[in-house]
Amino acid sequence: MLRNYKSPYESSVVTLLKDEGFNLIGKANMDEFAMGTNNTFSCFGPTLNPLYEEPTSPGGSSGGSAAAVAAEFCDVALGTDTGGSVRLPAAYCSVYGFKPSYGLISRYGVVSYAQSLDTVGILAREVKHIARVFHVLNQYDQRDPTSLCPELRQTLGSRQKKEAKGLRIGILSQAILEMSPEIKKAWAGVLEDLQDQGHTIHTVSVPTMKYALPTYFMVSPAEASSNLARYDGIRYGTRAETDRDSHDTLYAPTRTEGFGPEVQRRLLLGTFNLSAGAFEGHFKKALMVRRIIRDEFNALFASKNVLVEEDYETGDIDVLVHPTALTPPPSLDKINHGDPIEHYTNDVLTVPANLAGLPAISVPRGKGAGMQVWGQYGDDELVLSVAAQIS
Ligand code: GLN
Repeated sequence: MLRNYKSPYESSVVTLLKDEGFNLIGKANMDEFAMGTNNTFSCFGPTLNPLYEEPTSPGGSSGGSAAAVAAEFCDVALGTDTGGSVRLPAAYCSVYGFKPSYGLISRYGVVSYAQSLDTVGILAREVKHIARVFHVLNQYDQRDPTSLCPELRQTLGSRQKKEAKGLRIGILSQAILEMSPEIKKAWAGVLEDLQDQGHTIHTVSVPTMKYALPTYFMVSPAEASSNLARYDGIRYGTRAETDRDSHDTLYAPTRTEGFGPEVQRRLLLGTFNLSAGAFEGHFKKALMVRRIIRDEFNALFASKNVLVEEDYETGDIDVLVHPTALTPPPSLDKINHGDPIEHYTNDVLTVPANLAGLPAISVPRGKGAGMQVWGQYGDDELVLSVAAQIS
């Protein structure tokens, strides 16, 4: 759809990095409009995972960014994480991938997929590089209406400076799923390392997390169908060579030609979820479930969520630690393109952090495997400190 499109302005993240003296060397491959988990939905063809001899998925949607960092083309890359698109490729390519709390990094100039979930994320081979770039990008931006306001940013201070020692680390019982033996072993190894460093491990529960994946696949296509309505053959990108007189002869052929099959699938799904007949039972219900998931996470963490004004009882957990993906990356010939559900289920352990707006980082642990550290909203520094301890 955007084949010949050149943006007339620069995103805030690019401007901030340039002003700080970073060298921007290129754009990376990704799934079309950030919808995908294996890079196979890129209109340029898939990126290959540099860690493997045989053609293997680098993860998606920011697979090109993860592969570029893993192949040492660059020290740091940016991506977006709406449901795991920075963390999953980071895990598959054995690099770090950080999704900050929602609203900390400006989305100005970033193509929207699902605006209530979209965050700019950072990939690197070292946590200190992630932290350095995060400090440059973690700024209020009045051009992004969802940027966290300066007053609330100040209230995030208390936990940012706390030394990450003697923490209470939670493992979610909902994350104890069927997973490949190497991932299970990596998880056990990380928990052991953390205990050796004086932290304690506690099993905790977010019962509604089992509905996170269906909730995500209700909310994100709905928002996408609204965001991508602007690609209509009139203002942006591709325009079908047809008679321009009507909706049917310009709008529909432009979108049929311009969007790939996965994007079309999601736009249809999202439009359906927002339609009069499905709105109450699908979209609205998903928003209610999303709220419950967020409240259950709030009840778990020791620090309070600054976005919640009313008083509530906090828990005693500092961070959560669990795998990013349940398996190492699939080889490209094993990916079943006809079965979207197979792609969607890859996101089971990443989407809850987006639904709740939480900071989360995937830490490399062996070939093609990553472990995530999640924290309360605004506890980004704490999450980065724990990540540095399990490297
Ligand atoms: N894999 C998820 C999806 O397909 C996540 C995408 C993303 O974070 N951009 O929607």
